[in-house]
Amino acid sequence: MNFLRLTQSTRFIIPSFILALSLLLGFGGVSFQVQSSSDNRAVAPVQYSLEFNGTRAFTYLEGQCAFGPRPPGSNNLTECGDYIISVLEGKEWPVQTQTWIYQETQLRNIMAGAIAAPQYVLLAHYDTRPIADSDPDPLNHSQPILGANDGASGVATLMELAGVLPEEAKAVTMLLFVDAEDSGNYNGWSWIVGSTYFVDHLSQAQKSNIRAVILLDMMGDADLQLPREQSSTPALVDAIWQTASELEYSNIFLSSSGPYVIDDHRPFLLAGIPAVDIIDFNYPYWHTLEDTPDKCSAASLEAVGCVVEAFMETQFVTPTFFIPTGHPFTPDQLILLSMVPVVIGGCIILLVYKLKFQKNTE
Ligand SMILES: [Zn+2]
Repeated sequence: MNFLRLTQSTRFIIPSFILALSLLLGFGGVSFQVQSSSDNRAVAPVQYSLEFNGTRAFTYLEGQCAFGPRPPGSNNLTECGDYIISVLEGKEWPVQTQTWIYQETQLRNIMAGAIAAPQYVLLAHYDTRPIADSDPDPLNHSQPILGANDGASGVATLMELAGVLPEEAKAVTMLLFVDAEDSGNYNGWSWIVGSTYFVDHLSQAQKSNIRAVILLDMMGDADLQLPREQSSTPALVDAIWQTASELEYSNIFLSSSGPYVIDDHRPFLLAGIPAVDIIDFNYPYWHTLEDTPDKCSAASLEAVGCVVEAFMETQFVTPTFFIPTGHPFTPDQLILLSMVPVVIGGCIILLVYKLKFQKNTE
């Protein structure tokens, strides 16, 4: 994924400009609600029965890394995808794949569970970055990364969830493993190619049917800290962070806001579907050759896995409608948008002066 950090001043300036702009231009179709909102129904207390096992999940992380770096189009990725499918099928999840060609490369998304009409989509990217362009040693920049955290951690957590979610989950939940998330700015590739393709090929009925999308990315870091990703749907973040608090994981699921991340939840947000990115922004080995299993931990996988398992149990008892608030704009787009009123205001002032000048010279 691509990290975009907002400074304190832009954090303050942007919402006020958005508010002014949305009033000015009457953005009917896009909602900018800052407040989180849900249907506020009283949710019956749920007695969680959690079975997620971090140690077992960690073997799935190591299992993926054993194939080596897994960039799109590589044999390693094909073999890793086959491994993911065999584990899912072993846990009796029906599996289908979605294949297409992008930049002369065959890509493959893997879908399991409720494929025709999912109400919940739990996803992670299973490809890894083809280049270690953030490695401290420039000589390593052309090398592909192993992606223990950036790729394998989210996938491993979903693979473990496949075995512990209740049987009825398969009828309403899709486990989605997307290809080509992490090749952006390399050889003309974009970021989030697999998730974009997936959302582009959903019907309107399928989009409307999805209540929540939960993206797991870079959440296996041994020193795990999960601030609230800024473009995620606030009501959905609230609900998941509340579950984390009930499970006494508030030391990991932080109440603070983190940066804005361009990640696989973005195409869903753009389609008006509630989505959250559970991600640790602060990982010193990001896009380096050091993103290896020893930087990750079973405890981190277990914390996130248990929270997602508990949240899904809550949903199976009392489904929630999460209003898809939040906004899909990148910080760059927000800055450009914030300039629109200034430009319009400038034009009006120029026009008034011009008319006045003309009047005076007449
Ligand atoms: Zn990455």
